[in-house]
Amino acid sequence: MRLLSSVRVRSLSVVLAAVAPVACLVLYSAVNEHGLAEREAQEDAVRLLRVAVSEQDGLVQASHQLLASMAEAEEVTGGDPRRASALLARVLAHDPMAYANLGLIGPDGMVRASAIPVQGTVDLSDRRYFQLALETKDFSVGEYQIGRITGKPSLNCGYPVLDPSSGQVSGVLYAAIDLGWFGRILRTARLPPDAAITVFDSKGLVLVREPDPGEWVGREIDDAELVEMVLEKRDGIGTSAGLDGVERFYAFRTLRRGDGVYACLGIPTVEAFAEARAALFWRLLALSVAVVIALAAAWVGSEALVLRRYRELAAAAKRMSAGDLSGRVEVAGPAESRVAAAAFNEMAERISQMLLTEESAKSELAARVEGLVALRTRELFLLGQLVEHLQACLSPREATDVARHLLLQIFPDDFGAIYLMNASRNLLERAACWGEAGAVPDVETFPPDDCWALRRGQIHVVEGGAGGLPCPHLPPEAPEACLCMPMMAHGEALGVLHIAMNPGAHLSAAGWGESRARLGDTVAEQLGLALSNLKLRETLRDQSIRDPLTRLFNRRYLEENLERECARSSRSGRPFAIVVIDLDHFKAFNDTFGHEAGDVVLGEFARLLQSSVRGSDLPCRLGGEEFVLLLPEASLEDARGRAEELRESANRLALVHRGQSLGRTTISLGVSAFPEHGRVAAELLRAADAALYRAKAEGRDRVVVAERVEDLGVPEVGTKGPTAASARSLP
Ligand code: GH3
Ligand code: MG
Ligand code: MG
Repeated sequence: MRLLSSVRVRSLSVVLAAVAPVACLVLYSAVNEHGLAEREAQEDAVRLLRVAVSEQDGLVQASHQLLASMAEAEEVTGGDPRRASALLARVLAHDPMAYANLGLIGPDGMVRASAIPVQGTVDLSDRRYFQLALETKDFSVGEYQIGRITGKPSLNCGYPVLDPSSGQVSGVLYAAIDLGWFGRILRTARLPPDAAITVFDSKGLVLVREPDPGEWVGREIDDAELVEMVLEKRDGIGTSAGLDGVERFYAFRTLRRGDGVYACLGIPTVEAFAEARAALFWRLLALSVAVVIALAAAWVGSEALVLRRYRELAAAAKRMSAGDLSGRVEVAGPAESRVAAAAFNEMAERISQMLLTEESAKSELAARVEGLVALRTRELFLLGQLVEHLQACLSPREATDVARHLLLQIFPDDFGAIYLMNASRNLLERAACWGEAGAVPDVETFPPDDCWALRRGQIHVVEGGAGGLPCPHLPPEAPEACLCMPMMAHGEALGVLHIAMNPGAHLSAAGWGESRARLGDTVAEQLGLALSNLKLRETLRDQSIRDPLTRLFNRRYLEENLERECARSSRSGRPFAIVVIDLDHFKAFNDTFGHEAGDVVLGEFARLLQSSVRGSDLPCRLGGEEFVLLLPEASLEDARGRAEELRESANRLALVHRGQSLGRTTISLGVSAFPEHGRVAAELLRAADAALYRAKAEGRDRVVVAERVEDLGVPEVGTKGPTAASARSLP
């Protein structure tokens, strides 16, 4: 099936289909020519037969004239047979081809004279021409017969010789027309070699036969196929096997009506059709050659013009399906092949382009995804870092510093600031900011109502000018896109995280806010939680280290710091000092003005103490109306000076409670220093307390410096000697 449907077989079929009509035409013309040749052969035969018959008629006419003229000759009428024979012989010699013999028959039927010498007597009285001539005294034509004298087939004519005197028939002149002229006609008519002419009578006796007269003349062939056909049709044409068995076209007719003698002229069918067959043969040969050439051309042409191109196309398509996109085919060959090749190349080009585009889109997408994943990973990492660090922060300040540092990495292209709600919750104060100087809105503080994010309790995005409502806290020259995120914890706003687009980064405002909001919201949330925790922790810590009445550090905090300070000074060798303070006659004050007024005095003194200390100083309330001031890096002299200043300041305090003056307050102070009065907290406190005790004892409102350890005769540093003060003040 595949072979049958192949282009080659189909193109060969087309060639054969194209050649078929030509072959039919050739065969048709061959048949025509065959018929024509047959007709021509038959016409030739008929024509020749006509010629033969008219020749015979001419010869009969000529015989008539010849016999008529000789009948009057003196040699004939004279009665001398020798003279008559001589005349006849001369006449025969004059025309030897036409006549087989000339003779004179006596009234008794015996031959008197003959052109050909006669042996003995010959009786011709039974001959029809003799009898007719006697009866009619006119020219007569006899039968076709074999001459008794000549032995040749002949047609005899008779003519009466009249005695001039009596007018009686004295003899009959006869002329035996030699039937050999049939053969001559055959020879002169340039008929094919195997043409044959046969004359036979109704009994089938062959009178004339050319060729091979010797074989056939005189034989009776009444059983021959030819004879049967002629005897049946008499006149006409037909095809039959001849006497010699050769197939011929025959034209046949009765030579003389009533005689029952028939002539037939045959032309061999082989010869008649020879030319037509030769023509057919050559045409078929030419056609075959043409067909072979056409088939070969179709075979080769289909290969060269079609199949090769298709094979190239198929190979290129296969290569392409195998992944080789460079496959192209040559645009050559017939127009259709060129069109197909061009179409294939165009298709291949487009597919290549599409695949390349898809490939680059894929790799671009992969790169983008990779970049995005990397970005998200980094963001998550930074977020993790932020959360981790925020958890480790000890103060809101530290938290905002940490947040600033990490926000700088999380939003490297942007600007931003962290605003924290103040304790009074009436102002947002800037705790940190990042970005180029001048790019961040230079707003240090703003009321909470100036921020839409705080008012609504959710993120507020401003994009592309009209893309959002700018917060009132933003200056008029605010960036194109910015957002505010409230830092909330437990429903309480702790501050605002503000991020603004950097105009120098040339980013598109569209989508900027969304991309920042996702991460910024988490940062704000974490920051809010951290700040809340820190605030809570700070409150708890504050509560644990401060005295609730005076907000000064409590005794426990003092002891911790005193121990730490001792350790630090032991390492560094630097001095420090403590001052123990006690309000004078406070009990009496309480008793006079009431406990509440006593509390007011304690608070006012605490404020004085607080305001008079420096950065690293530590003011504490030990309990009751007793206070301690820890002065790091202060020498004994410095401490005494500071204590004196404090005493004086306390003296100047003008205390009023409920419009009532509370009078003047005095304080007594004991001072001790490291390392003069001890190297551990207890020793120093004990020494200071002892000094205070002495100040009380010496009349109050004064500063007393502790005595040196060796002066007191107390044990060395590290030993615990009991004193009144220590027994009173320390656990
Ligand atoms: P001295 O000059 O010797 O120090 O005499 P003093 O009265 O100040 O000393 P004392 O130790 O005898 O009295 C201390 C008084 O301080 C007893 C107590 O009523 C009073 N006090 C202690 N704590 C507080 C307090 O928190 N509030 C008030 N209003 N009074 C307190
Ligand atoms: Mg006291
Ligand atoms: Mg007191």
